[in-house]
Amino acid sequence: MDQRFQVKLIAPIRILFQEPKKIVITTHQRPDGDAIGSSLGLYNYLVQKNHQVDVVVPSDYPEFLKWMPGNDLVVNFETDPVKAIRVVGEAELIFCLDYNSMNRIDKLQKPVRESTAIKILIDHHLDPENAFDHIYSFPEACATSELIYEFIVAMDDRSLLNKDVASCLYTGIMTDTASFRFASMKADTHRTIAKLMEAGAVNYKIHELVYDTNSESKLRLLGHCLKDKLVVLPEFNTAYISLTEEELDHYKFETGDTEGIVNYALSINKIMLAAFFAPRDGEIRISFRSKDDFPANELARKYFQGGGHKNAAGGKSDLPLDETIKKFLDILPSYKQQLL
Ligand code: MN
Repeated sequence: MDQRFQVKLIAPIRILFQEPKKIVITTHQRPDGDAIGSSLGLYNYLVQKNHQVDVVVPSDYPEFLKWMPGNDLVVNFETDPVKAIRVVGEAELIFCLDYNSMNRIDKLQKPVRESTAIKILIDHHLDPENAFDHIYSFPEACATSELIYEFIVAMDDRSLLNKDVASCLYTGIMTDTASFRFASMKADTHRTIAKLMEAGAVNYKIHELVYDTNSESKLRLLGHCLKDKLVVLPEFNTAYISLTEEELDHYKFETGDTEGIVNYALSINKIMLAAFFAPRDGEIRISFRSKDDFPANELARKYFQGGGHKNAAGGKSDLPLDETIKKFLDILPSYKQQLL
C-alpha cells in the first residue's frame, strides 16, 4: 500500500517543504465531510512542520462537521472575503483538495487563479483541469482524506499522525464511503482506517458526532420527503425526491439538512438511479446516486452542468423546479438499457 505518491513523485513537494512556508488550503464550495476532513487533516499535519497555514472555504458547511480540530480557524469567503483574499494573496503554496477544476471553488476562483503561489492539487475526481502546478490525481481513491494519509506517509511523517490529524481524515473517509460501504472502499482503505484509529481517531465518537446530531426539523423534513415526496418509476428503476422553497422554509432548512436524503431513494430494492432536486441560491441543485455501473456522473455532466463520481454525482439547472424534473424524466428513456 501507500504506493500512489511514490508513482507520482513528490520530490518537488519535499523541496518546497524544506523551509517553513505560507500555505493556504482550499476546497470545493458547499464543503462535505471529505472536503473539510482532508483540509483540516492536512492543516493539523502542516502546522506541526512549522508552516503558517490557513484553510479557506468558498462557502459554509453543515454544523455536524464543525467539531473537527482546527475548525474555528477556517476562513469562510462568504463571511470574511477580505481575510480570504488577503491570505490567498500572501500564500506561497496553495493546496487544492477534493476538487478537479477551478469552477468548483466558486468565488475563490479569481483570487486563487491570480495568485502566484505554487498550486498543488490532491484529489480523487476524474479528469483534473490543467490549472495546477503539481497534480496528484487518483480517481480510484475513495476519498481525498485517504490520499492525505498516504501523502503524510510518503513524506516520511508517520510520527506526525496525531489524534487531530487522524480524526479529520477518518471523518473524510467515513463520509465519502457512506461508512465504508461503497465499492471505492478497498482492503487497503480498511488498513488505513486501522492506522487512523491507532493514531487516536475514536471511531464510535466520530460516527456519533456526524450522524447522531440531527435537529428535530431535519428529521421531520426527511419524514416529509419519504412519506409525501418520493416518486418511484419502476419502468426505469429510478426514484426521485424534490423539495420546493416553501417546503424548505416550512422545515426551517439549514445547510446540510438535505444531505443524504437521495440515498434513501436509492435504497429501494432494484432502484438503479436516484435523484434529489431542491432550490438553492436561485437555481435548482441536483444530487444523483446510482448502483453498479450506471454512470451518474455522465448524466450529470451531459445534461445538468455537473459531474462527480460514477455512483455519486451532482448538477444544477437554471430551469424552474417542475421543468427541471420534466427534463430529467425526458432523459430517462435514453438510459433505459443501462437502468434495466
Ligand atoms: Mn471527496
